[in-house]
Amino acid sequence: MADAQTRVAVVALAGAPNVGKSTLLNRILGQPLSIATPKPQTTRARVLGVHTEGSLQLVFTDTPGVHRPRSPIDERTVRRARAGMREADVTCWIVSAERGVGPIDRTEIPRLAESTLIVVLNKLDVVRKPDLLPLMARINDIAPGTECVPLSALRGDNVELLVQRLGELARPGPWLYPADTLTDQPMRFFAAERIREQLLRQLDQELPYRTAVKIEDYREEEHRTVIEAVIYTDSVSARKIVIGKGGRRVKAVGTAARRSIERLTGGHVFLAIDVRVKKDWQRDRRFLDEVGL
Ligand code: GDP
Ligand code: MG
Repeated sequence: MADAQTRVAVVALAGAPNVGKSTLLNRILGQPLSIATPKPQTTRARVLGVHTEGSLQLVFTDTPGVHRPRSPIDERTVRRARAGMREADVTCWIVSAERGVGPIDRTEIPRLAESTLIVVLNKLDVVRKPDLLPLMARINDIAPGTECVPLSALRGDNVELLVQRLGELARPGPWLYPADTLTDQPMRFFAAERIREQLLRQLDQELPYRTAVKIEDYREEEHRTVIEAVIYTDSVSARKIVIGKGGRRVKAVGTAARRSIERLTGGHVFLAIDVRVKKDWQRDRRFLDEVGL
């Protein structure tokens, strides 16, 4: 129903790494679409989530965390984050109320305040209410008059209020997607993300960031989906760790990722994972394009 009554807003979810952007998107969509883990820079690609409710459509871009780039991949993800914010009608800049205002917040918030901005103070569940006031005062110092919405993406407290505010900021106009659209990303993208989520969960420290996941084949058969994936690592030793003793590690990653993908597709999945070495993949632009980085 794309009549004159409909309203729409493109909303960029942005902020420093690990503040809860993906968790908030999943909470609003009511589906764990975007992977969220305790490790920073979990989100490399942009996930588009669409929330349609009544006459309102909110189109979310879940941008990678904005941070100081340290590598070519970082540069690309930060560039993508900035592009996402430029295209948006509203930016929700998310700050972790637990961690407080950091250097990235201090540089980005005043810039964003020139267009439509809501500062979301997330992780309300782990701070005491009186500690919120100084935090809001800090944000008002940086960018006077900026609207702040405290909420807990994890528990859902106040998330409805944010959606309501975004609805008020939406412009009258036709929807950008059909009402039943959840995302514009293909399933194979989510399959790769689910594998990457397990690498983040099951590998130590910096190792996950030295891996890339590529889906070589994704096909629907009569009673199952067959996925052939390759985990690329940047050295022989990294490959050995990813495979694990007797292949145990990659098996655990595969089993958990398969279950996670099955929850998403609602059907049986056959997942085959191959682990390969590709030295310096981080600097190979064509490869980065292929894996969506
Ligand atoms: P992103 O990097 O900004 O996308 O952050 P994620 O959504 O991946 O979340 C980073 C971590 O913060 C995860 O461990 C989340 O479970 C946690 N987190 C997110 N929102 C909340 C919240 O409202 N309360 C608490 N306590 N933790 C949260
Ligand atoms: Mg994220």
